[in-house]
Amino acid sequence: MGGRVQGSDRQRSRIPLRSGRQRHHQRHLEDAGREGTLMTSTAKKAAAVVGGVAILAGAALGLRAAFSKPAPAPADERQWVEVEHVRSGDTITVKPEDKVTYAGIRAPLKDEPLFEEATRRNGELVEGKKLRLRFEEDERDKKQRLLAYAFVDGKLVNEILVREGLAFVRLTPTTQRFAKQLLAAQGKARRAQRGLWSKPWTAAAAELLGDPKYGNLHTPACEEIPKIDPARLVRFDKLDDALDRGFAPCRKCTPCRWSE
Ligand SMILES: [Zn+2]
Repeated sequence: MGGRVQGSDRQRSRIPLRSGRQRHHQRHLEDAGREGTLMTSTAKKAAAVVGGVAILAGAALGLRAAFSKPAPAPADERQWVEVEHVRSGDTITVKPEDKVTYAGIRAPLKDEPLFEEATRRNGELVEGKKLRLRFEEDERDKKQRLLAYAFVDGKLVNEILVREGLAFVRLTPTTQRFAKQLLAAQGKARRAQRGLWSKPWTAAAAELLGDPKYGNLHTPACEEIPKIDPARLVRFDKLDDALDRGFAPCRKCTPCRWSE
């Protein structure tokens, strides 16, 4: 995936977005806090008059209020952010400061076809806009970027880029929420020969190996293969089958190339 973490970024102080569980917890606290504030001021007035007994009564009422209130909606991992900078077709910088990479897809890297087109289109879609992000259970990728589904005006940006042939679908066990939708969008792009699918791809080896953990497709000679548990590798003799399953080409071994 594109966008290396640069030194200057690392040095800047970071205010990471809260994780789903933290947000969930925080929301409980905030809800409790709002009720708590009311109770506390009531209790304080009462306490000034009749002392500790009133505080106890207030606390009991507070507890009852907390329990009678419907439970807050599931955190649902939603958050609004402002887009500051578009780094590639699938990675952006947002406020509050964080790096976000789109879940379930992989856009071309700098040395791959359509890097500039994908980056430009992503910019058109999101730059300067407010995005609603949705997450899965694992909110960060291995580079600690937020892994998100980005919505602008209610539309899923991840899907738009795939539908326009500007990103591959790349599915992992933790990016399944929109898997069907993304694969359908990729199917449409391929049939319409849009973007990445405007030329046929040729496999670089007779057999290709899919690593479901990261959604990458490798050649057997890839330097990553010895590091992967062989039991989890999925073998493909047809490139299309691997793409249809949501595997995207590994950036190191280039398991397929655009045919000229
Ligand atoms: Zn590889």
